[in-house]
Amino acid sequence: MFSYRHAFHAGNHADVLKHFVLVQLLEYLNQKDTPYTYIDTHSGAGVYTLDEKFAAKTAEYTTGIGKLWTRDDIPAPLQAFADIIHEMNPSGKLRYYPGSPFIAERVARDEDRLRLFEMHPADAKLLADNFRELDAHKAAQGYRPTVRGKRVIIERSDGFASLKALLPPPSRRALVLIDPPYEDKNDYRYVADMLKDSLGRFPAGVYAVWYPILQRIESRQFADKLKRLPCKEWLNVSLTTRTPGPDGALHSSGMFILNPPYTLEPLLREVMPYLVQLLGTDAGATFVIQKGAPVTGAAHERFT
Ligand code: SAM
Repeated sequence: MFSYRHAFHAGNHADVLKHFVLVQLLEYLNQKDTPYTYIDTHSGAGVYTLDEKFAAKTAEYTTGIGKLWTRDDIPAPLQAFADIIHEMNPSGKLRYYPGSPFIAERVARDEDRLRLFEMHPADAKLLADNFRELDAHKAAQGYRPTVRGKRVIIERSDGFASLKALLPPPSRRALVLIDPPYEDKNDYRYVADMLKDSLGRFPAGVYAVWYPILQRIESRQFADKLKRLPCKEWLNVSLTTRTPGPDGALHSSGMFILNPPYTLEPLLREVMPYLVQLLGTDAGATFVIQKGAPVTGAAHERFT
């Protein structure tokens, strides 16, 4: 049940897509004064050490952040994400990579709330330890603590089951990141069911789902299933870095956003060609951006 450890994959091309989009969504929410809640249903460990154990073994970060972070031709919308990586690695050597909770902690404001769920006992402990360390660091610099100040609440529990108790959030503003491992094919169904329930409780929420693009049927049909959910609008972006090979390594992934900010599509159109050029390794590298609204069971779509 607990075979998946995100440390094996930290900083790969799929993380770059996911975390770049995450930064854009948070920055959009920051534009209004009303505080919001960031909910991470599958948080992982929060920070990954790239030259140790799991991450060093697979070195997947060399397919993603390793190629990106030192470039001097990064498109403007990608810069804030690259800056976070630089801040975590002031020595100039890429050692630490932030997971989604640390990225959210960095971009969200003091008055915003972070609710983090992680079920793996080891990763839940690492997540709590990493935030305690961040608190100590912040305290030393005279900043308000995050965990002790209840800005960040971490729970070792099932993110699928825990989300409903948080919706709708008090300020009626929230971003929910849903990023399960999908090693269990039931995760596809759990995500769709959870979103249906969540949209009933809180239709105005912004929901961002990461998903792998694989041969298995659940994966191939997943985005089309999400397009039928009763949101106002959806946006689907995928990044493919190469032609699928016999090694079965992840070559393509997507982010599906329900109720996306109107600003996201133009930013993606600016950045995705750059990511394809930088992270692509053969002629199969490409991106797709689709946008639409669910209309009486069918979806209106626009493609690139
Ligand atoms: N969101 C993280 C990031 O971007 O840095 C990565 C998350 S990783 C893809 C998926 C995580 O979900 C793993 O750490 C796994 O232990 C955890 N997990 C698996 N099933 C879960 C569940 N039902 N509830 C909460 N966490 C779960």
